[in-house]
Amino acid sequence: MKPISRRGMLGRAGVIATTVAGGFPLTANAAEPSFEATGPGSRRKVKVVVTGGHPGDPEYGCGGTIVRYTDLGHEVVLLYLNRGDWSDRPGYDPSPARVAEAANACEILKARPVFAGQHDGKAVVDQAHYHEFQSLLETEQPQVVFTHWPIDNHADHRAISMLVYEAWLRMGRKFALYFYEVSNGEDTVQFTPTHYVDISTCVSRKRSACYAHASQSPDKYYALQELVTRMRGAESGHKQAEAYVRHVQSPDFSLPLAT
Ligand SMILES: [Zn+2]
Repeated sequence: MKPISRRGMLGRAGVIATTVAGGFPLTANAAEPSFEATGPGSRRKVKVVVTGGHPGDPEYGCGGTIVRYTDLGHEVVLLYLNRGDWSDRPGYDPSPARVAEAANACEILKARPVFAGQHDGKAVVDQAHYHEFQSLLETEQPQVVFTHWPIDNHADHRAISMLVYEAWLRMGRKFALYFYEVSNGEDTVQFTPTHYVDISTCVSRKRSACYAHASQSPDKYYALQELVTRMRGAESGHKQAEAYVRHVQSPDFSLPLAT
């Protein structure tokens, strides 16, 4: 267990207070690598990696937060576990279309797509894949990583959550680790947020990024996700918000702030 400095303790108290009062944290934990607040005026640019089981998951779960980061000039990578190559039509490979959709979504969000090279519906979590995935994150050198909440009804979502978690441990817990929710009830279950990001000003770009995945029934999935962001907004005092669980042993990290 690491000692926590007084300044660090004050930082943690500040996070709790601002999260309750304003819906998003403001402070960094001085006991850990110190990341400046990511609000306007901050000169430090950070690398953010948002991971997802499939093309579309980061956009649906974190699209508004991604816009908030990229609008502030931070670099965001969307790291997809696979290229969406699953299909119930024999002989049909949908991955070229799914990759093109992901490229369009990333362009809307001003993010960069990366693919981890696994196969849709056949996620593998073993020593070789832990090592491979860790190498990907080591290449990107992020200060903060978002991934699926691990209690999820889709095996690919659980898989990338575990791959991220293991990489986080093996890399010395040096980046901030947040879990997100997607398709609640169908996929994510038992999710109780610790942090919120106000996305009220950027819902149209989030929606466009989600609808860039035109092959994936966006009317159905976006409607569900918007219900969730409206609920999270009501909880946190905003019109719409995205919600996260920060790992309790994660470095504190400022989520993007309101302008
Ligand atoms: Zn998915």
